[in-house]
Amino acid sequence: MAGTLIEIARHTLSGEFRRIDPRQAKVVLLEGSDRVLAAYPPDLSEKARTQLVKLGVDVRTGSRVTDIDEECVRYTGKDGEQRLASRTVIWSAGVAASSLGKALNVPLDRAGRVPVGGELSIPGHPEVFVIGDLAAATSDGKPVPGVSPAAKQMGRVAARNVLAHMAGKAPENFVYKDYGSLATIGRKAAVAMVGKLKFSGYPAWLFWLFVHVYFLIGFRNRLMVMTDWAWAYLTFKRSARVISSAINTPRAKPRDEAPTQ
Ligand SMILES: Cc1cc2nc3c(=O)[nH]c(=O)nc-3n(C[C@H](O)[C@H](O)[C@H](O)COP(=O)(O)OP(=O)(O)OC[C@H]3O[C@@H](n4cnc5c(N)ncnc54)[C@H](O)[C@@H]3O)c2cc1C
Repeated sequence: MAGTLIEIARHTLSGEFRRIDPRQAKVVLLEGSDRVLAAYPPDLSEKARTQLVKLGVDVRTGSRVTDIDEECVRYTGKDGEQRLASRTVIWSAGVAASSLGKALNVPLDRAGRVPVGGELSIPGHPEVFVIGDLAAATSDGKPVPGVSPAAKQMGRVAARNVLAHMAGKAPENFVYKDYGSLATIGRKAAVAMVGKLKFSGYPAWLFWLFVHVYFLIGFRNRLMVMTDWAWAYLTFKRSARVISSAINTPRAKPRDEAPTQ
């Protein structure tokens, strides 16, 4: 998100406004832990940080946000309490599970997820299955991440277990197959982890593109996405724009108008 925002400000929107210069926008990434992308190994986190800095993002790790209002963000960083003036704040520190979980009347975890057993059903209720983001499942003793491959794999196992239940057979246990993780940071910048293989930068970004196109259904979709991406890559343009009128906001001195005599 931070990488994309700075690219939009520096490239996509540059020259689109008469009164402001979007290239002057600052993007500050506040990260509570001591490294970005904490789900990745430390060396890939460091690669991600370097790529973000190269794009122009001000990365501040070890910075825990304590308050946000319409004019600033307050956080506790390495130098104590800090105030960062900002009118645009994007909060991305985790998601909560659907409130549907509460209807099951079972103890939920901190994120509101339903703890499930190995066969993905609720303890004491072999006929009730919870899968995907709503399930707090474990595989080989490790928590299953809230990502779509895990949700799809759980769906298949739950379906087979429903059939097994109906046939009076024993259910199977869920084992998460981790095919790897990819995170895109910006243009030609990404990190990738596939099995023991770890790579970053342009190769990881190309791999990310390939994987996303490969998993699209249908030739037409693939062709359209590739054409769209190629256009965006070559021209720095995005096909969508949201234009809003800034009524009641003080207007800055026009950059491209001659000073009043
Ligand atoms: C911003 C963002 C980026 C992500 N990026 C990635 C990524 O790059 N790669 C990746 O693998 N994963 C990514 N994920 C995670 C991924 O989207 C989820 O893990 C995946 O969608 C989980 O699937 P699911 O079927 O459990 O839940 P969902 O896809 O959320 O589907 C649940 C559905 O249930 C509906 N619903 C909720 N409550 C009710 C109700 N009471 N009645 C009826 N319907 C209801 C919801 O509207 C929703 O359509 C991302 C998630 C977010 C938020």
